[in-house]
Amino acid sequence: QLTNPVAEGEAEIAFEGALRPRTLREFVGQEKVRGQLQLLLTAATMQQRTPDHILLAGPPGLGKTTLAMIIAQEGDRPLRMSSGPAIQHAGDLAAVLSSLVPGEVLFIDEIHRMARSAEEMLYLAMEDFRIDIMVGKGAGATSVPLDLAPFTLVGATTRSGLLPNPLRDRFGFTAHLEFYAEHELEQVLGRAAALLDLPIDKAALAEIAGRCRGTPRIANRLLRRVRDYALVHGRDADLEAVHAALDLYDVDGIGLDRLDREVMRTVLTRFGGGPVGLNTLAVSVGEESETVESVVEPFLVRIGFLTRTPRGRVATPEAWRHFGLSHPQAGLT
Ligand code: ATP
Repeated sequence: QLTNPVAEGEAEIAFEGALRPRTLREFVGQEKVRGQLQLLLTAATMQQRTPDHILLAGPPGLGKTTLAMIIAQEGDRPLRMSSGPAIQHAGDLAAVLSSLVPGEVLFIDEIHRMARSAEEMLYLAMEDFRIDIMVGKGAGATSVPLDLAPFTLVGATTRSGLLPNPLRDRFGFTAHLEFYAEHELEQVLGRAAALLDLPIDKAALAEIAGRCRGTPRIANRLLRRVRDYALVHGRDADLEAVHAALDLYDVDGIGLDRLDREVMRTVLTRFGGGPVGLNTLAVSVGEESETVESVVEPFLVRIGFLTRTPRGRVATPEAWRHFGLSHPQAGLT
């Protein structure tokens, strides 16, 4: 039977959903954040009030959406999901806010991309559970206050630096999500393999864990490619299958993908190791600055290949070594 590409996409989304941990206990890693959240949620339950507003900050795929769902589930509260790009006018936000039920958790993904006018409406909503709605136009316009049901806002952002201070200050707690350690990723993968009914040995899991950029979403995606490889070649999902599948998908030995490598090679060879400005770098690799800054860079900084300086991005000696290149000025001093 031919594979229907839509059905395949749906299957992947369903798979992501099935893999999401449902409670803080099931959530692997991020121990500090888990402890902080647990305290905040338990205190709110004991005092029978809605938990403080929470901001989740960190690179994509580390579990922000998953945590928002858990926050709602742990307190047995309904969850409403929205996103910054979907809120382009204050009216879009007013419609969502005015229909919330008491205690509801409102999740706004990519909150840094919300319209300015909506942001201002959110300040008052977060602080006083109230908004002012403008009625009429021009000189006759008046603002009518509207009381809202108490709610908990959970905002997610890959760029917390872009949030205006008044918005950032209104969150009672900001959770900074970190890249995962390899032993944590092995746990994420072990759980996913069990759900996929995929027999896989420890060495194979460890190899994938070391090649997924410290990110659970990528770990799960690579596991599916290994499963495909084992299925198509009628073999076990062992270390050899992992090597073959990940090589096929251009994931290198330390998990860098095509774009990571292109960014690093551009800094190293076109700009002599830097410093090079973010925008120049993004144009050179044909990507949006936002993608380079929030998706590519954090991992390259974390593994010590790139540093951010006031004059631009600079490659480190480790990066020169990894790409088998020598610094143009090496040996001159
Ligand atoms: P984005 O901001 O790009 O939406 P995200 O940070 O919201 O990404 P999620 O969608 O929550 O990421 O997580 C991606 C996938 O990784 C999910 O399928 C989830 O099952 C898995 N995952 C994330 N964090 C964990 C974790 N701590 N333990 C187990 N699985 C996790």
